[in-house]
Order: sequence, then structure tokens, then C-alpha cells
Amino acid sequence: MTDRITEAQKRALDQQRKFLLHSIARPPADRQVIFVEGRGAILKDIDGREYIDGISGTNGPLLVGHSHPRVVRAIQEQAGKLCQHMTCFDNIPAIEAARKLHDIVPSQWKLGKTYFCPGGGEAVETALKLVMRQTRKSEIISLYLSYHGLSLGTMSLGGMPWLRSFIPGGIRWPGFHQIPNAYCYRCPYGLENPGCGLQCAAELENAIKFASSGSVAAFIMEPVQGPGGHIEFPDEYYREVRRICDENGVLLIADEVQTGLGRCGAMFASQLHELRPDVLVLGKALGGGVPVGAVMFREDLTPPDLEKQTWHSLTFQNNPLVCAAASTVIDVVREESLPERAAELGQRFTQRFRELAEQHKIIGQIRGPGLFIGLELVKNPKTKQPAVDEAGKAVWSALDKGVITFTGGLGNVLKVKPPLTITDQQAGKLLETMCDVVTEADRSLTK
Ligand code: PMP
Repeated sequence: MTDRITEAQKRALDQQRKFLLHSIARPPADRQVIFVEGRGAILKDIDGREYIDGISGTNGPLLVGHSHPRVVRAIQEQAGKLCQHMTCFDNIPAIEAARKLHDIVPSQWKLGKTYFCPGGGEAVETALKLVMRQTRKSEIISLYLSYHGLSLGTMSLGGMPWLRSFIPGGIRWPGFHQIPNAYCYRCPYGLENPGCGLQCAAELENAIKFASSGSVAAFIMEPVQGPGGHIEFPDEYYREVRRICDENGVLLIADEVQTGLGRCGAMFASQLHELRPDVLVLGKALGGGVPVGAVMFREDLTPPDLEKQTWHSLTFQNNPLVCAAASTVIDVVREESLPERAAELGQRFTQRFRELAEQHKIIGQIRGPGLFIGLELVKNPKTKQPAVDEAGKAVWSALDKGVITFTGGLGNVLKVKPPLTITDQQAGKLLETMCDVVTEADRSLTK
């Protein structure tokens, strides 16, 4: 790998070390890459080396591919026209993008208005503030292994405590708490589904009735948990949590920051399980690579008097530049039938991984609808001990072979979620490279 560090790269990395701050753990010194270009599913580094982006940027933003020509044109045109204005006024790209989102959400969800902000975490924060204001309640329930952002507020919702434990006291917003998720592969109750009686869903009712101050505003969930390891729940779980929310006057927020806009083989993952959210949060893919998140509210949650008052404010809310990108991304997703492409490619990938799992015990479970695939690696299929080191090595081995992937879950879930515009040939190379690195990981276990 030392040949990776060329002079041009060394110079840039030296400067990076001096001037640019990172917040997520850096790769080993000989695996640090400086990217200079992206086209479709391909990234190019400072030395001209090419990689298949198997994870679409940071877990999804490049769903339509890097520098999609229509998105580039929309950004260029808007940049030359209008980039920002005093936020109490309006602009056409934001209005258009909101109308288009309204067109693609199922009408029975009765979602009305959209608020755009700079990212997924800000969209979740906005959702929390508005539901607290409208319900006059303060508690929010979320799930084990959930991820909703890393601001102080959203961090307190997360079900991966190691992401907040570095702050003294492992800060948590009062009134935010987590309950077990329906992670059937590692059932928190040690039960088997079907036949378990969905103890995890019952926990939501218990938490509302017996472990709250009677002031639960909302339950927030990712319809398929992304950072937690691409965990999809049993069908009846979605029905149960909706019923419990309805019967207890609790709003349901679907965080589709990773799963929305076709990634899972439907426009929204909630549709796969007939889950009806009261509030829908989007991000990542929506901007085609530029920072934008969105939150849509059930019509009755945004009464006319709401907008007479400042209840929230972000300098870059409803920003015309990123909304022009978002508006075009929505067109591309529809016109290029990307949800269908996710379903078709997802089936091909999953089928191949299933064949591989017959030979390699390291694959504990293959998860994820559409092209939102997680391979949970375990040291032993019986004990299910997470194969964390092996998954980490597989990431760097994939990089050496020209494929970008990353881990999630307990550090042992390999993610496969390339741009949905990936060509068949690139998809073939990605798939075979992932099979190769999993095969290597399996061999390293049996050595
Ligand atoms: N929700 C989910 C499900 C996410 O995956 C993320 C980002 N990984 C967020 C919220 C936060 O989005 P952002 O990083 O844009 O703030």
C-alpha cells in the first residue's frame, strides 16, 4: 500500500494534518485518500486512481450518482441566479421542491408542508421541536441501535451510546429514551420470530404507559435502521407500533434520511411495510451530493397560525441553491425509475450473497431491502460473536481493490449501497469485489 502515497498526495495530506479537522476516526495512514472527482458510481483520487463508490458518498447522498449532469446543470444555473435571501421571504426552487415531494408521498399519509434545512440531523431537530410545540408534550421515544444525527438533541435520541459516551456524562436530553428494537437476528429478549409475540413492540406501549411522565410527543424510527446495521423489522412490527401510537395519542416520525427516495426498492421504505408516518424526515440522497435535509408534516400539524411566529430558524432553511438540486434529484429518481433499479439490482446482489453464505460461515445474515444491503459478519454462526476486526480488514482490502465500503452496526456489518445509476458492469465488479473480501475474511477466521 505504500505506493499509494505519491508526492501529490503526500503534500495534500501534510496540509490536511495541519489545517483540516476531522470528527470521525481516520483510516490508517496508508489508506488515506484524497478525492478530486466523481462521475456516476466512480470516484477518482488525486493520483488518478479510480474507485467504485459502493456506499454512495457518506451512506447515501450520491443515490443519483456523483455529478449527475442534470443536477450539475441545475446547481450551476441556480448559482448564477440566486443563492440566498432573508429567510422570511420565499424562492421558486424551494416551493417547487416542496411541491414535488408532496407529489411523491402517498396521499393517504396526508403530509402537507415541507421545511428544508442543511442536513438530516437538522431535519430531525426541526421535527422534534415542532411536534413538541404542537402536542405540548416533551418526551420522545426511539429505538436501540437507532441513529438520528449527532447534534446535542439528536444525539440523545440515538441507540448507540458509544457515539455520545465521549462527552462527560454521556449527555442525554431529558425525556428522550430508547426501547429495544426488533433486531430479530440478535433479539434483545432471546426470542424467535415468528412466535415471539413482539415483545419489542409491547415495550413501546409499556414505555408510554409506565415509564414516561405521561407526556410522550412522538416515537421516532428509521423504517430500516441504517447506521445500526441495515436492520429491517418484521412486517407486523410496523403495524403494531402504528396501532400503539394511534391508541396512545403519540405521533410517529419516520426517519428516512438513508432509506428515502428509492434506495430500498420503493420511493420510501415505509411503503414496503405500509407504515404511515405523521412526520417524514429526508436527507442525504435528496441533494444529489449537496447538503440538504427535509421534514414533512401531517397537514394538521402546521396550522396557519404557526407561521405567524418564529418557532425555528436556520440561515440556510429553504435555501434556493440546494432546493434547485433537490428538485432535480426528485425528477431524476422518478424519470430514471431508480426505485425499480434498486429493487432489481438488490435482488441480484442478495441472490449472489446468499450463494456465498452457503460456503462462508462468516456471513451471519444478509439484510436490507432493495440496494440497501448489510452483510453481518460473525466469528461463529452459533455464538454470533461480531467479526469486527475481520469486517474492518475487509473495508481496507476492498479499498485496495478499488471499491469503497464501510462498516456499521456493532462494527461488523459491511454495507453495500452504491448509486442507483451504477452501470451493470460496475455493479458486477462491485459485487465480485465484495464477494472476494468476504471470502478473504472467512479464510482469515479458519486459519
Ligand atoms: N438519520 C439517519 C437515519 C442518518 O443515517 C443520518 C446520517 N447518518 C442522520 C439522521 C443525520 O443526518 P446528517 O448527518 O445529515 O445530520
